[in-house]
Amino acid sequence: MTMRRILRRGHPALLAALLATSLTLPAMAETAAAKPAAQADAAKTLSPTEQAAEKKVEEKAGEIDNFTLANGLQVVVIPDHRAPIVTHMIWYKVGAADEKPGVSGIAHFLEHLMFKGTKKHPEGEFSRAVSDIGGQENAFTTQDYTAYFQQVAADHLEEMMRFEADRMENLILTDAQILPERQVIIEERRMRIDNNPQAQLSESVDATLFANSPYGIPVIGWRSEMEKLSRDDAIAFYDKYYTPNNATLIVAGDVTTDEVKRLAEETYGKVPRRADPGARVRPQEPEPLAARTVTLKDDQVTQPSLQRTYLVPSDTTAKGHESEALDILADILGGGTTSRFYRSLVVEQGIAAGAGAYYAGTALNDGQFMVYGMPRGSATIAEIEAAIDAEIAKVVNDGITPDELERAKNRVRKAVIFERDNQAAMARRYGAALSTGRSIEDVEKWPERIEAVTVDEVNAVARKYLEAKRSVTGYLEPTHPSSAPAAEGAMPPAPPPAVSQSQS
Ligand SMILES: [Zn+2]
Repeated sequence: MTMRRILRRGHPALLAALLATSLTLPAMAETAAAKPAAQADAAKTLSPTEQAAEKKVEEKAGEIDNFTLANGLQVVVIPDHRAPIVTHMIWYKVGAADEKPGVSGIAHFLEHLMFKGTKKHPEGEFSRAVSDIGGQENAFTTQDYTAYFQQVAADHLEEMMRFEADRMENLILTDAQILPERQVIIEERRMRIDNNPQAQLSESVDATLFANSPYGIPVIGWRSEMEKLSRDDAIAFYDKYYTPNNATLIVAGDVTTDEVKRLAEETYGKVPRRADPGARVRPQEPEPLAARTVTLKDDQVTQPSLQRTYLVPSDTTAKGHESEALDILADILGGGTTSRFYRSLVVEQGIAAGAGAYYAGTALNDGQFMVYGMPRGSATIAEIEAAIDAEIAKVVNDGITPDELERAKNRVRKAVIFERDNQAAMARRYGAALSTGRSIEDVEKWPERIEAVTVDEVNAVARKYLEAKRSVTGYLEPTHPSSAPAAEGAMPPAPPPAVSQSQS
């Protein structure tokens, strides 16, 4: 069995690219009949190659469809006929933030245990089937959802659906399986967090930012509670949340709606409603009153860094265009090498090895707006912080320019095209949105909402949310500063954790 983290262990260049595109984009599907005017205008600013790419994607992609089975399972079909491949994902509307107090880590633990087999398909059979047909599989847990997916040749879709529907209701858990797997997750915590100062700092920043919201508790769990997770805890969680009426099936790829409907009825349609998890009511974060700081010093730190998180609305909780304006603001401040942070700290002042900003807005409850920077050469963290603060003061006091807004929107347009070209990214976009209280229409209208954002709206969210009292600043420092070489091109802090694994 191997474990893999999607983001933090990814290729540094990939991660940098991911963070550079702070405008994390919802996938977009548009029908020919209802093509938004804003999109038509947008095409003018695209290069001929980009326009050709957009046209190609539109020709090959069909309309996104959805229906709900009698047992409450929502099904979304995203046609993509460019290759005979299918991405099959089941998303449960439950994550770490839904755990009861005292059993932190149970959502992620159950994700591991879902690979332990059923009466019909003993442990290992599902994963073996996927690998025998040359497919890929993975699973991941976040604060708001837990998802399982396979990417396989399209003619194996039915087989994947049979396996996945079977483990939605027939999982067998014994103490003989539970206890060794509990050691696996404890080891996973040791590797990912306890041995990683950057991850420890992020965990502390979250725990400080969220005084009342469960988002302050790490997805992987507190070690002392993980050590006590039991078979009963896992079964109770499974029986409460793993039910068709609490899940979304996303099928993207070389399929038709009729075919998916028939197969879904034959497989998932046979799974009874096992429970009614009810509304997702969680303790809410109060308005923050004071700026907070967290400092972590560790011998392992070779590159000092600063990361600051502001408490902001999410896509789900935001009013008006606030979340889209935050996306644009993050892009202008810290999205890539043309951003204000990069030009000022890295290029003009030459004091930073890297600096950026991004908005983590996909959440059922609060969102997070993050800024970060790493000193270069003889520069100190204090200088980096002063320079970041100066840029933030500038945007709060003077606002952005119409030109900056237009350039940011253009980057969004390109990213939307890029994402529509990626079947798995589309599936993830819809799955994440539908698992955090949003609708298909919300996802489809997102590019239009971005187009509608005004200079005043971006300036308003900068003034309203980039307030020191809404933030926690984390400092990562070597224990002995003089001995630490300042590396160039260091890794920026990772986005909010998505605990993930693949088993094979
Ligand atoms: Zn794991």
